[in-house]
Amino acid sequence: MKKIAIIGGGLAGCEAAWQLARNKVESTIFEMKPQKYSPAHENPDLGELVCSNSFRSREATTGIGVLQREMTILGSLVMKAALANMVPAGKALAVDRHGFASYLTGGMLDNPLISLKRKEIKDLDDPELEDFDSIIIAAGPLMSDSLAENLSSIIGEQSLYFYDAIAPIVSSESINMDRVYWGSRYRPEDDDYLNCPMSREEYQIFHKELLNAEAVQARDFEKEIHFQGCMPIEVMASRGEMTMAFGPLKPVGLVNPKTGKEPFAVVQLRAENLEKSAFNLVGFQTRLKYPEQQRIFSMIPGLEKADFLRLGSMHRNTFVNAPLVLNSKLELNARAGIYLAGQITGVEGYLESAATGLWLGMSLGGENRGRQYVPPPQDTALGALLCHLRKEEKNFQPSNVNFGLFPGLNIRAKKARRKELHGERAENSFRNWQDSL
Ligand SMILES: Cc1cc2nc3c(=O)[nH]c(=O)nc-3n(C[C@H](O)[C@H](O)[C@H](O)COP(=O)(O)OP(=O)(O)OC[C@H]3O[C@@H](n4cnc5c(N)ncnc54)[C@H](O)[C@@H]3O)c2cc1C
Repeated sequence: MKKIAIIGGGLAGCEAAWQLARNKVESTIFEMKPQKYSPAHENPDLGELVCSNSFRSREATTGIGVLQREMTILGSLVMKAALANMVPAGKALAVDRHGFASYLTGGMLDNPLISLKRKEIKDLDDPELEDFDSIIIAAGPLMSDSLAENLSSIIGEQSLYFYDAIAPIVSSESINMDRVYWGSRYRPEDDDYLNCPMSREEYQIFHKELLNAEAVQARDFEKEIHFQGCMPIEVMASRGEMTMAFGPLKPVGLVNPKTGKEPFAVVQLRAENLEKSAFNLVGFQTRLKYPEQQRIFSMIPGLEKADFLRLGSMHRNTFVNAPLVLNSKLELNARAGIYLAGQITGVEGYLESAATGLWLGMSLGGENRGRQYVPPPQDTALGALLCHLRKEEKNFQPSNVNFGLFPGLNIRAKKARRKELHGERAENSFRNWQDSL
């Protein structure tokens, strides 16, 4: 019988332990609270929600709604705890955070196959870990410094990051193709980038709006973010009127075929996937509030009616370059038997973190019974998230679950219908996958 050590009793750690127990595998969770708290945690219970009490939309026409459905089908304890502690929040799944954490903690304490030790693990060679067959690191985006140093010495410091810098993504169907043009710098034949040309006047208005926009305040432990070499677009705008035009909005080499001239400034959109069903706004990492992002970025020529599949953010966030350091089982390439789950893998969000714990617990539990589970296909929410962790790219950044991670639909339809189609396709595909297990 296998025994697994789980470092961190957060959303991913608890979900992994639960799924292992469902597969008759014993685990021990090592949780550093209450001896030590990260700068955002304060409740000694497990599964603490450090900020919002919402798991976002419940609707099956959103990526997160689809993920909730799939996790519920797979017997997620996090979903059980959420549904048992719901508070009214319209179309969102919001919870009483104390009730939620207490439910999850109870689920761990009451399960004879799960043990809980209140202890910080500083080193993966800690003698307490010797008796275990495998280790799951689920210590979250604010994992303790000593463990982060230890992990970084194993995977290489260039593969462990401490901040994310996420730019918004728009769906390709919602881009006004009459206003934009293909081409990368000096290569008009390239179709990796779409270019949104701005006149001087459009640029000046856009710049002014950015200066006046409302941003999310950085917490004390997040203040150093800007020194990491990735400046939010609104901070760049505040450095001077032309700073963006000499930076990410530089028009050099991007001649507009419609006018034969270089525009005053250009916002570049880079393809997010091979089907080119989604594009990110290059250099637009931002801390602006979500409604402000939608309002101001819709002023970019070609994005007037943009459907934002994901909005930008910048956070303190410990995560690995998953496509480089993890194999398809979420195991470290550098050290067999050590697995990662939760936000640290490069997913973003409470449920996304729990979903990776669920998948890891389920697949390690399956192995214990001689079963090898193939991950669900990319057109399901869980499959799309796992694919994101396998997608090698120059600047790997965490992602929440959104339809931009799913394969394109290859159908022309209105925005609302496209969302329904994504939800329906995911439902069928997930059912087929389950039948094949
Ligand atoms: C400040 C902040 C706000 C966020 N707000 C939101 C939000 O509003 N909505 C959202 O969807 N997502 C949010 N996230 C992102 C993310 O979804 C959550 O952080 C989520 O809790 C991650 O789940 P996890 O299981 O990976 O880690 P966590 O839930 O953080 O669990 C990790 C656990 O590991 C423990 N631990 C750490 N180091 C050690 C160690 N060395 N030994 C033993 N135990 C250890 C911690 O005490 C913690 O209990 C936020 C993240 C941060 C940092």
